[in-house]
Amino acid sequence: MDVVNVLHMNAENRKCSYAENSTLQKTVILKARKVLEETIKDYGSHGFPQCFKLADLGCSSGPNSLFLIANIVDGVHAFCQKKNLKAPDEYQVFLNDLPNNDFNAVFKMTPQFYSNLENEIGPEKSEKCFICGVPGSFYKRLFPSDSLHFVHSSYSVHWLSQVPRELLDINKGNIYIPKVNPAGVYEAYFNQFTRDFTAFLHMRSEEMVSKGRMVLTLIGRSTADPACNNDCCHLYGLLAKSLHDMVAEGLIHEEDFNSFNLPIYTSCTDELKAIIESENSFTIDRLETFEVNCDTRDENEKIKSDESSGRFIANTIRAVMEPMLASHFGNTFMDKLFERYAMHVTEHLSREEPKYFNIVISLTKKCK
Ligand code: SAH
Repeated sequence: MDVVNVLHMNAENRKCSYAENSTLQKTVILKARKVLEETIKDYGSHGFPQCFKLADLGCSSGPNSLFLIANIVDGVHAFCQKKNLKAPDEYQVFLNDLPNNDFNAVFKMTPQFYSNLENEIGPEKSEKCFICGVPGSFYKRLFPSDSLHFVHSSYSVHWLSQVPRELLDINKGNIYIPKVNPAGVYEAYFNQFTRDFTAFLHMRSEEMVSKGRMVLTLIGRSTADPACNNDCCHLYGLLAKSLHDMVAEGLIHEEDFNSFNLPIYTSCTDELKAIIESENSFTIDRLETFEVNCDTRDENEKIKSDESSGRFIANTIRAVMEPMLASHFGNTFMDKLFERYAMHVTEHLSREEPKYFNIVISLTKKCK
C-alpha cells in the first residue's frame, strides 16, 4: 500500500475525530518540550545564524505545527535575552508533509500565529518569521544541500514509506506484529524501518549544515521484545479483533482482512541508536522516553475503565487509521467498526492500562 496516497484520503472523516488525536499529539509535544528547549539552548550557545532556517517534518494540518514553531521562536528569543546573545534577525520556517496534506488549513491559521508571536516577541521580529509549505516525503530530498539549521519532527517518523511487501504471505489474521510467533513479521517490519529511517537520516544529513540540530519524537515500544505487551501495539491488536468481527458479520472479505497491514513501526531505543550509529551522519546528544495515558484527557490520573475512555481512545485511533482502512476496505462500515472497537477497548481497560510509549532524541549533524 502506498502510504503517500492513503494517509490523507478521506480528509472529512479525519476531521470529525481530529480533536482526540490532536490532543494526544499536543500532550506528546508538551512532554518532549524540555528536550527541544535544551537543544535550542545548546545550539544557541555557539551563536544563532542571522537567518535561522528550521523545518517541521510531518506537520499535518492541525494547530500543533504552528504551536510548535511559536515555541521554538519564543524559546530562541527568551534564551537570547537571558544570555544577552544576538537573536536571529529572520526566521525561515518550512512546514513539510505529504502532498495530499491540507496545507491550506495550516496557512489559514497563520494570522493567529503572527498575532500571538507579535505579543510574545514584538512586531518587528514577528514580521520576519517567513513560513512556507513543502510537500513531499521526508524519505526523499526536500531541501537544498547545507540549508537547514534545525529540524523537528513529532509523531511522524514511525510511519513507514510502505507496508513491507513480504507481510502479505505471512501475516494473515493480524494487522501488526502479533504477540504469538512474531519473529518473521517483526523482521519484515524492522527491515523496512531500518531502510526508511536510514534514508531519512541520510537525506537530512545532506540538507543540514554541520552541527545543525534535529529533535525527533516518535511512538515506540518499551521493551526489546517485539511482542510488546502494554504499549500501543495492544490497541492495534484490538483493531484487528474488531476487523475480524466485521469478517464474521460478512461486512468485509477475509482476503481483504488478510492483506491489510499497518505501515507503522514501533521501534525500541536500542534499535534507534543502532540505526543512527550505523548511518553515521549524526551524534546522539539526548535520548529520553516517556509514557502518555491513552486517554489524554486524564494525564495525571489513572484511566477510568469506563465507556467514555474507550470511546475517546477509539476516536484517537480512528483519526489516524480511518483513511487507510477506508482506502483498503471501502468506507461503508466505519461507524460500526469503530463502535465495536470502542467496546473492545473499554473491555480491555478494565484489565490493563495501555500507554503510548514515546521516544525523543536530540541529534547533532557531524562535521563533514
Ligand atoms: N507533527 C504533527 C502531526 C503528526 S501526524 C503533530 O505532532 O501533531 C503524522 C503526520 O506525518 C501526518 O500528517 C502524515 O501525513 C505525516 N507523514 C507520514 N509519512 C510522511 C512522509 N513520508 N513524509 C512526510 N510526512 C509524512
